[in-house]
Amino acid sequence: MVNFDRMEPAADDGTRYIVFDLEWNQSAEGKAGEVKELPFEIIEIGAVKLDSRLRPLGEFSRFVQPVVYRRLHFKVLEIMHIGMDELRKRGQPFPEVFREFMEWCTEAQDGVKVRPVFCTWGNMDLTELQRNMAYYKIPSPFPYPLLYYDLQKLYNLLYLGNSKDKLPLDKAVEALDIPMTHPFHRAIDDARYTGAVMLHMDFQAVKEYLSLDYYRLPRTPEEEIYLVFPDYSKYVSREFDSRETAIEDKTVTDMICYRCSRALRKKIRWFTANQRNYYCLAWCPDHGFVRGKIRMKHSPSGGVFVVKTIKLTGEEGVEALTKKKETVAGKRRKRNRQKHLREKLRGRT
Ligand SMILES: [Zn+2]
Repeated sequence: MVNFDRMEPAADDGTRYIVFDLEWNQSAEGKAGEVKELPFEIIEIGAVKLDSRLRPLGEFSRFVQPVVYRRLHFKVLEIMHIGMDELRKRGQPFPEVFREFMEWCTEAQDGVKVRPVFCTWGNMDLTELQRNMAYYKIPSPFPYPLLYYDLQKLYNLLYLGNSKDKLPLDKAVEALDIPMTHPFHRAIDDARYTGAVMLHMDFQAVKEYLSLDYYRLPRTPEEEIYLVFPDYSKYVSREFDSRETAIEDKTVTDMICYRCSRALRKKIRWFTANQRNYYCLAWCPDHGFVRGKIRMKHSPSGGVFVVKTIKLTGEEGVEALTKKKETVAGKRRKRNRQKHLREKLRGRT
């Protein structure tokens, strides 16, 4: 069972974990009927609220009246067991539901000012929530940058060796021996199950690994984000118009030791095999070898932004990176040789 004594903090610090889940509908006619700004229309919001010691404080459950898509996608019908008529009858307009949801998230308790921290299974719900807010032109009440807990990621980190596979919620519920009293895929039930998973896993051990919401990207150098975790750091850049301009930016390519903030000398300069991931190796006189990884990501407006992670690495890491670099260099040499040969042949004819 859950041992509350092991959990920090002892007193209520105003943290409110809002474990929430959304159900959404999409065009029943596929791409043809899709509204580009709102591919997924939220039809249900369910949430449980936990205090700083993960004790349950209440629940929130609302249906949303569909406006954009007038028919339910067959998959939604299949898993949610709710019809359009019922949604219209029991639901409220999205702006109203969202306002009530935020009021519920932030309501003070016994005079204590609360700080909601969102927790979801996977990384999609906050994105789709904000997309729906944007569709109705609701100004964002969220702080910037928006940090949240992706419990699916934390579960992976704890029990699955940080594998990249996305474990479905029901598998985690099953693995943790949580009684399955309700079917899955209703927002309130999934929120309850997610809350139960959070309670049953060693949340304290991974509490520092907050996720960063990428819906609102940095727009200026001042808004760029730098986060330090126990064993790595993460930097999120502003938007660039291309990969080429991004990789020429000094802040993007700088290697800083996340332990001592020293600017590091590179041993292997940034290189890439596929134009999507870039790697480099640097050396900190105090902390040893440090590996840099850049992921180029597409921004919604058609440009790119960079997520750079910096991590200490051992001999194995150095070896792997050296090998990777040699492979890339070997391929390039081969390409150049072939190009050279082709040009030579062309010159003869
Ligand atoms: Zn250092």
